[in-house]
Amino acid sequence: HLSQRLATVASYVPQGARLADIGTDHAYLPVNLAKRGIIVGGVAGEVVPGPFKNAQHEINQEGLDDKITARLANGLQAIKPTDQIDTVAIAGMGGTLITQILTQDFDRLAGVQRLILQPNVGEANVRQFLMTHGFQLMTEQIVSEDGHDYEILVADRNTQPQQYTAEELRFGPYLLAEHNAIFVAKWQRELDRAQVVLHQVQSAHEVPAAKVAELTEKIAEIKEVLQRVG
Ligand code: SAM
Repeated sequence: HLSQRLATVASYVPQGARLADIGTDHAYLPVNLAKRGIIVGGVAGEVVPGPFKNAQHEINQEGLDDKITARLANGLQAIKPTDQIDTVAIAGMGGTLITQILTQDFDRLAGVQRLILQPNVGEANVRQFLMTHGFQLMTEQIVSEDGHDYEILVADRNTQPQQYTAEELRFGPYLLAEHNAIFVAKWQRELDRAQVVLHQVQSAHEVPAAKVAELTEKIAEIKEVLQRVG
């Protein structure tokens, strides 16, 4: 039984896929997909021994050793050409780390058609990476769970991905267009937070001008987006 966050990630894995789940922890995602017959095989990658053992244990317990291989490896180094991986999921980490993982061993994505990424923060970095590395954003989802918002970004290989504006990179082109209640609540919270920080910064002994300018711009940008609908 997957959390709503991981269930949303899972929903974008194509039928018959060979999936690499990088940073798999308990391997819940690939195990669930294999049990439902959605993936035909795959790799559960982990860089930390504890979670790697969790993954091995879960795969073994579910009798899926013939379908899913747990590998102790850094990022995409868990993927070998013989795995014939076509779909990669990376969920539950910061956007900067996700981007680093994808950039570090980009050649390992050679046969990969789809990326399903769920950054906890720093989503703009991930969108920027996709746009500049031949992946077209296909859809975006935002889900709310346990008081947190999670964005799920789905991208397919494309030689000429659409180029997005800075605003689209920050807010997400699909999320921006949809403008749903979770999106609005997220950015309202971000706005409140930025305003609190701005007040703190402005009351400092020596006001840091660059920081004030950055926050002021961010606040204006969020306000502009929030005012557009509703
Ligand atoms: N993907 C699962 C999920 O979304 O529920 C687990 C998320 S957990 C918060 C992040 C996992 O990523 C940790 O188990 C961590 O060890 C792993 N991780 C972090 N950096 C990694 C890397 N460079 N390569 C592989 N795994 C990594």
